[in-house]
Formats: sequence, C-alpha cells, structure tokens
Amino acid sequence: MNRNIETFLGCDSEYEEALVVVFGAPFDSTTSYRPGTRFGPKSMRAESYGLETYSPYLNRDLSEKPVFDYGDLELSFGSPEPALKTIENFTAEILADGKLPFMIGGEHLVTLGATRAVLKKYPDLKIIHFDAHTDLRDDYLGEKLSHATVMRRVWEMLGDGRIFQFGVRSGDKPEFVWAEQHVRTRKFDFEGLAELVKALKDEPVYFSLDLDVLDPSFFPGTGTPEPGGTSFKELLKALLEMAPLNLVGCDLVELCPVYDQSGLSTITACKVWREMVLILSQTNQGRKIWEKP
Ligand code: MN
Ligand code: MN
Repeated sequence: MNRNIETFLGCDSEYEEALVVVFGAPFDSTTSYRPGTRFGPKSMRAESYGLETYSPYLNRDLSEKPVFDYGDLELSFGSPEPALKTIENFTAEILADGKLPFMIGGEHLVTLGATRAVLKKYPDLKIIHFDAHTDLRDDYLGEKLSHATVMRRVWEMLGDGRIFQFGVRSGDKPEFVWAEQHVRTRKFDFEGLAELVKALKDEPVYFSLDLDVLDPSFFPGTGTPEPGGTSFKELLKALLEMAPLNLVGCDLVELCPVYDQSGLSTITACKVWREMVLILSQTNQGRKIWEKP
C-alpha cells in the first residue's frame, strides 16, 4: 500500500528526479478587493483529479516528464516582505538544483519573490505577463508591496523594455501613460505574441499568468474580475504560441475559488496549469535540463 498523499495530478515524482517543481504560495494579504486566493493551490490540487493527464492539444502526457509537487509554502500572513523572502529562497533552491519552478498563487504579489530569485540566476531575464490589470502602480493606498504594484516592483529590478504585457484592460491613466515609456503593454488581447516569441529566441523568459486575464464569464472565481477578457480558447492558443520560448519558470495566480460556487473556475485553472506544465517541460530550458548527462 502507498501513503495517502495528495499531490497535483501526475506530480508524484521524487524531487531528485524532477524537472519541474510545482509549489503553492497561498498568500493574499494585500488583495485590494475580494480576498481568498490563499485557497487557490489547495482547491486546484484537489480538483486536478478531474482532469486527464493527457493533453490532446499538445499530444503529451503529464506522466512523460517528472514533476514534483512540494505542497504549499508556509507564509507569514499580513506581512508581505517575510513571505516574499520565503518564496525567493525556495525558488532559488529549485533553480540551484537545476530545476524549473512553477508557483501557484495566491495573489499576484507572490511573483515578486519568485522573480527576485530567477533574476539572480538569469541576469538577462525577460518577463511575459498576461493580466487584465497593468499591476504597474507605484503604490496602492500608500503600500509599495501589493498585487496592484507587483509589476512596477519587478520593473525596478529589470529596467525598461524587458516586461511584455498582454490582455490588459484595466488600470488608472497614469499607469498606462507610464507603461508607454517603460514596458510593452498589449491591450485587450494577445496580438504580437508570436512575433515576440521569435524576437526573444533563446533569452531566458519568466512567464506570469494572472488568471483574471480570462473573461469573468469563463472565470468568475477571482478577486478583481474585469469584463472584456479573453476566452479559454484564446488563452490556450497564446500558451501554445509560447512553446518555442526559453522558459525558465512560471506562475499562475489569482484564482479565488470561493467566488465561483460552480467550481468551474478551479477546473479552468487546472486545465491551464496542465498545459503550462507540459509546455514548460518542453521549452529549450526544459530540454537542456532533461537532456543533460
Ligand atoms: Mn495581476
Ligand atoms: Mn489582474
């Protein structure tokens, strides 16, 4: 008999042999509107068993590449900086072991912790960011560390021209004006993504997916829903376009399961997660790690 251990579907490999390391970052202390993303990773882990391990989109199966599920990090609620430090240290450990981190939020601020570690390993890092929101405020009600400011904090580390946003349809006017000078923001959809993927070639890329980029009619289970979003099919097409990239890590954030009594948002998040794991393990970086002697 085996022990009763609930991991994400198909993520039962040992750490040592794993290529991708999945972990939850159930933090939601700076959420500006409706809280509850701390329940995202646990609900996804349970709901993932409703999926098949096989993706007909990619013709690949989760069982083909070893994925390790660490479980959820224990993060200090109410205090963003120690939580970010925990995430940064954990991500750094995964990277030092030559593996690919895949973080499940939690609110979007958690991305700052992961990207701090990724940037240390890959100084040329670029960020691709799907989101309904710019997340570029300098502060939110005086708070510098917030899910509404996360990409501004990331920009402070990276500098101009290295953050590429898609699907954005909400933010205050100064954010959009500021964005024109410092990042590339594609409003409303994913146009230009295929060209960007070609242009970035072998450069290390971290991918951050705020699930509220999806339209609330597909994905109501999130804290700050924004009508006018993309469909699941459009998002999936965009994910598949990213397959040639050199992805060195990714995250999936802002699922807030309690706002969708049907459970459909969690199911959608799980399906997106499966495609992302399969893509991450097949990108240049994944192949490099996998094929090394
Ligand atoms: Mn966001
Ligand atoms: Mn958002």
